[in-house]
Amino acid sequence: MHVLKFGGTSVANSSNIKLITDIFLQHPAAQKIVVVSAFSGITDQLIACGQLAEAGDDRYAEIITGIEKRHLDTTRELLPVSNQSACLSVVKQLCNELETICEGVFSLQELSARSKDRIVSFGELLSSKIISGYLQALGHAHAWLDSRQLIKTDSQFGNAAVVFAVTNENIRQAIAQSQDALFVAPGFIASNDHNLTTTLGRGGSDYTAAIYAAALQAEALEIWTDVSGMMTADPRWVSNAKPLPAISYQEAMELSHFGAKVIYPPTIQPAMQLKIPVWIKNSFAAQDHGTVIQHETNSDNGFIRGISSISNISLISLEGSGMIGIPGFSKRLFEALANEKINVILITQGSSEHSICVGIHAADVQRASMAVNAAFEIEIAGKKVEPVAVENDLSIVALVGDQMKSHPGISGQMFSALGRNGINVRAIAQGSSEKNISAVIAARDVKKAVNVLHESFFEEVQKQLNLFVVGVGNVGRRLLDQLQQQQTFLAEQLRMQVRVVGVANSRQMYFDDKGVDLNNWKHLLEENGEAQTPDSLVQAIVSRNLRNSVFVDITASDVVASLYEHLLRKSIAVVACNKIAAASALSHYKKLKSLAREFNTSFLFETNVGAGLPVIGTLNDLVKSGDVMHKIEAVLSGTLNFVFNHYDGSRPFAAVVRQAQQEGYTEPDPRLDLGGTDVMRKILILSREAGYALEMDDITNNGFLPASCYEGSVENFYTEMEKHEAHFAGLLQAAQAAGCKLKFVASFENGKASVGLKHISPESDFYHLYGKDNIVLYYTQRYLEQPLVVKGAGAGADVTASGVFADIMRVIH
Ligand code: ADP
Ligand code: ASP
Ligand code: MG
Repeated sequence: MHVLKFGGTSVANSSNIKLITDIFLQHPAAQKIVVVSAFSGITDQLIACGQLAEAGDDRYAEIITGIEKRHLDTTRELLPVSNQSACLSVVKQLCNELETICEGVFSLQELSARSKDRIVSFGELLSSKIISGYLQALGHAHAWLDSRQLIKTDSQFGNAAVVFAVTNENIRQAIAQSQDALFVAPGFIASNDHNLTTTLGRGGSDYTAAIYAAALQAEALEIWTDVSGMMTADPRWVSNAKPLPAISYQEAMELSHFGAKVIYPPTIQPAMQLKIPVWIKNSFAAQDHGTVIQHETNSDNGFIRGISSISNISLISLEGSGMIGIPGFSKRLFEALANEKINVILITQGSSEHSICVGIHAADVQRASMAVNAAFEIEIAGKKVEPVAVENDLSIVALVGDQMKSHPGISGQMFSALGRNGINVRAIAQGSSEKNISAVIAARDVKKAVNVLHESFFEEVQKQLNLFVVGVGNVGRRLLDQLQQQQTFLAEQLRMQVRVVGVANSRQMYFDDKGVDLNNWKHLLEENGEAQTPDSLVQAIVSRNLRNSVFVDITASDVVASLYEHLLRKSIAVVACNKIAAASALSHYKKLKSLAREFNTSFLFETNVGAGLPVIGTLNDLVKSGDVMHKIEAVLSGTLNFVFNHYDGSRPFAAVVRQAQQEGYTEPDPRLDLGGTDVMRKILILSREAGYALEMDDITNNGFLPASCYEGSVENFYTEMEKHEAHFAGLLQAAQAAGCKLKFVASFENGKASVGLKHISPESDFYHLYGKDNIVLYYTQRYLEQPLVVKGAGAGADVTASGVFADIMRVIH
């Protein structure tokens, strides 16, 4: 005997029914029972019918009409016209009965659990009768089994408990007395000892199949559904979830208990007792292997099997000094819950025994807290115990695997992965069998958590980075180009999926949760973008709550820089090309760094100094490895290099500056470069990274611009420079007379920093510095005499973009 159960999607319409009929007819077993669910969505509609009728809303009748039509249509599509009438009249008759019951509910405006079970039972009755009618039309001998008569339960309507002794006997007799080899039975429904219809809980058709299988000691139980087996996580949430070829009964029980909906938890027990293998197979890909749930599994396939989650969880906690060391407290707590038939999903107890925390379905929370408060009324009045505390809007994520107990470090990995992504853990429970570790988290984080854990435990091979790129000027555009070009390489060589989920300029922002098409981002941003404000931008990023999120700031905006704090607090990494934050007040710089640490994320700004050159990275490596910075000498301004490399006296100084501006070397206000502010910011950042507490005001600026140049507009600046040509010519001549070149140099020594124009003699490292090159000399404890030199192009969109790119890669270590 084989028992095959087909779920709601597998019987959703006539073409699916044809498909599954082929599957079970071709199945080689000599005897088969086919258990079917209601057509997908029907149980929910029936529940809605009952609720509307109860509320005195006559729209329940429209739903019934829809249900009737769907079943009549399916019958007509399946059966040849000449064979339809009997089956059509069964459908009509069942729908009439349903209508009569709902009318009763409507007039009484009362829906008992008992009537509700009666109403929902029509879903499975209809589907099984239609499939039976179809088999008859095809000429296949079979019998329709009335699961209501065979499966006997107690009277807990909605979630009835099976009375196995009677049920097993009924089933055995029914099969023994039949001549048939093929049976069709409705899932989900049963009856109590008064023959009133009961149901086995949502998803209960799986259980029905297990009950038949156990009663008949079947060789196998097959659960045919719409996925190719039990997967490492719910495939609707985790696109990389993989089917598990084999798992143990225990693992299946844990996974389904913690929410893997693919199999209804009670299903496993009867099969496990008799060691009946349970297969999960895909009706739409019958050739796929599927999952076999059996006694033992091969532990070579890793020690974590899967990740599952349950939403709509509430925690109730009982706390108080009166609990310490007194036995029986937890017994009373669980008794109070059991009396109310409240299902306890998770339990944690502090080692001090000072508090017990219980996870339950949110729907039960009211009844649970009333029951527990009542049970501890005396202790609460005597202030030995606090009244029950309730926390709502929670979810549970669980990691499941038989072999977990022999592998230390799993919970460490689990909680650090959650922590790195800003997911706060409210409570933790580890089953005493150590077959699962579960954590209670905020409901809003659950999808992210499942993905984070899946990535951490199953996808060393695939990490995902989610980028939000703000600023799509020269550098931003190049970055997007580079990301697009590298996508395949990163996926294939580094197993990384780097997606740009959002792009923004100063006016608009555009998001695509599957990754913005980088061939077309410009058009999408301009045509489909929404208006951008700092608040809406942050809100859009934070609310997505994506794992490994990185905010990439390629603007020069102080407004954008002011967003970092909020983002870091949400564990969103910040990669800034923008220098404003790193060069802001020391306290703010420190705060951002410590927030990054506290929230397990990164604040990186390599391109603040020397564009793509590894200036800050090298410095960080020196400091981290215990070296001490004594002195920094550097030429750090692309603009000033350009200006002094081109100013040879043949053209006025102002004309050279204008050319630099036209060629895109300067800030929009070139005085930030010419006046030394930009270089001051850079040396400030380097000194801070070297571990010194400096402010902008502590830096001496030996500027070379006459004071009047700072007055008025940018145009005025040019006029003033023209007026002062003699001053600039004088600077040049003095240098040339000494055989030197002019360079704007930043220095740091003995805790003091300065910037200014210097005469550079031919023997200096700085003399042969051409084009956009920057140079940094680090004199440290280890590089005492000969400095460590970093030199190369220190400006330009491409190299800057690649520096930003490298920071992005650094976020995921
Ligand atoms: P049926 O109607 O066939 O009983 P269900 O909808 O009850 O099907 O269960 C199948 C669904 O379970 C899948 O479509 C999938 O979305 C969901 N699911 C949740 N967790 C898992 C998991 N770990 N593996 C496979 N499917 C899962
Ligand atoms: N039809 C029932 C439900 O939707 C039982 C099942 O499909 O397993 O819950
Ligand atoms: Mg199901």
